[in-house]
Amino acid sequence: MELNEVWVLAEQKNGIIQTVSYELLNRARSLADKLNVSLAAVLMGYDIPADEVQELIYRGADKVYLIEHEVLKDFLVEPYSSVLCYMIDTYNPQIVIAGATSTGRTVLPHVAMRKRAGLTADCTILDIEEGTGNLLQTRPAIGGNILATIKTPEARPQMATVRPHSMKPAPRDTGRTGEIIKPVLPDGCLVSRVKKLDFIEDESQGISLQQADVVVAGGRGVGKAENFKYIEELAKVLGGAVGASRDVVDRGWITYPHQVGLSGKTVTPKLYMAIGISGAIQHIAGMQTSETIVAINKDPDAQIFKLADFGIVGDAMDILPVLIEKLKQCAA
Ligand code: FAD
Repeated sequence: MELNEVWVLAEQKNGIIQTVSYELLNRARSLADKLNVSLAAVLMGYDIPADEVQELIYRGADKVYLIEHEVLKDFLVEPYSSVLCYMIDTYNPQIVIAGATSTGRTVLPHVAMRKRAGLTADCTILDIEEGTGNLLQTRPAIGGNILATIKTPEARPQMATVRPHSMKPAPRDTGRTGEIIKPVLPDGCLVSRVKKLDFIEDESQGISLQQADVVVAGGRGVGKAENFKYIEELAKVLGGAVGASRDVVDRGWITYPHQVGLSGKTVTPKLYMAIGISGAIQHIAGMQTSETIVAINKDPDAQIFKLADFGIVGDAMDILPVLIEKLKQCAA
């Protein structure tokens, strides 16, 4: 069977398309264009509003495979995996990419195993190899010190998960048109031994780090755990979330959900403030796509200044109280 489309696994929550889907469409659009094939989004759920489905087309999909059933309302690995396997058998896509979210990280290994296909997790760069058309799947390896590019020349489809927030969402073009296809599933696709009973939102982190427009992050240069109150206060004044380097998480100054970087979260806020953070490659891996980066560091040669749009050289403990006070005056 002829190999054709490039697919992204779109995600929805309560019928609302999740931003990661638009990020995937942005990446996959260029892959499909290089291969000169269609780009399709596979969307599973139940009772999804038509304008949400249409939005996938506005954001770059040529086709949407819409599979709706009560069982698919919330993510459950068995039916999601069975539907994807059936879809792959029927339409034979050459590439399938998903977000490195709990959904993508759970369902794609399941599908890869069932289809005997390769899977590269947590990619940061995807490209097409000239000549062969193979998918080049690049991800940090060996503690983030190198970028490894992985190919799966034999097995199909080629599959990868991509870190959320590692690319901007595809721009919206309401002039785009596309096709919405509703495949009919065979019996047995929707069997699940697991049932979702409830969902309890984690409200312990204040503003979600990955959704925040402003992230104020502290590192070892903050000096001690008690000084983190300045980071928290600055984040509050700016209406942002608190981030941290791994060093301070390891020291117990703040909890792991705040960690930004290779082994923490990836963020793309409008403003990222790195305070007392040296700018190690593993930290940068999690915040380099921020729109504007401001660094405060007492070492003028700190690596972070090479990335920063604005820098203040000085002692964070002298600068932070003054900065917070001034910002409060501006807000008043
Ligand atoms: P340091 O590197 O010690 O830097 C402290 C900075 O503060 C220095 O630049 C110093 O000049 C400055 N400073 C000191 N005093 C002051 C002051 N009074 N005022 C202003 N500036 C001051 N790190 C992450 O952050 N996230 C990750 O996800 C991550 N994952 C990793 C995964 C692996 C496999 C490995 C091996 C490492 C990982 N790391 C990660 C660790 C990373 O390599 C660095 O060790 C860490 O980011 C350093 O944290 P830091 O910048 O707070 O501390």
